[in-house]
Amino acid sequence: MTQTFSVRCQNCGSPLQVNDGLRYVTCGYCKSELQLVKDASETIHTELLAKLNTNTESLERSLKVLEIQKEIERLDRDRSQGFTPEGRQLPPHNSLALTMLVSFAAIGFGIGGITFCRAIEASFIYELLAMAFIGLVIIQTVRDTIAWHKRLEADRNYETRRARLVSQIQQDEKHF
Ligand SMILES: [Zn+2]
Repeated sequence: MTQTFSVRCQNCGSPLQVNDGLRYVTCGYCKSELQLVKDASETIHTELLAKLNTNTESLERSLKVLEIQKEIERLDRDRSQGFTPEGRQLPPHNSLALTMLVSFAAIGFGIGGITFCRAIEASFIYELLAMAFIGLVIIQTVRDTIAWHKRLEADRNYETRRARLVSQIQQDEKHF
């Protein structure tokens, strides 16, 4: 889960929500490019990028970081819209424990049905229906388990990519 914090635009004073790990933000109101600066009291405020970049070298670095940051933002946006970085649909986030619990209960119910049919010597068709029900439950369980695993992979992929980009920015920060 991505954490956010709020800052104010140095140019127009508008409140801005910023995702954790980012160093630059574009004001949604006045479009100023802002750098996030931590002051002595560990509070984060914004500084206009134009003011900070007194030489071309630091401007170049800023632009490079800005580019990485745009990539992070795209990654976060895709994910919040339900897509993987490769543009595939993000599998639903289901609970494997709940899937298993429900399927065991449903299979138990099916077995109970078969036992009951036999006890009352009901027509074989009811027993077949109970077996078909168990079959469907098993198919659904396999599907849910595959979806759960795919989601786990997608989550890991997202975390890895994001961490890599954030560390690129932090690496760059050391040169300042
Ligand atoms: Zn602004």
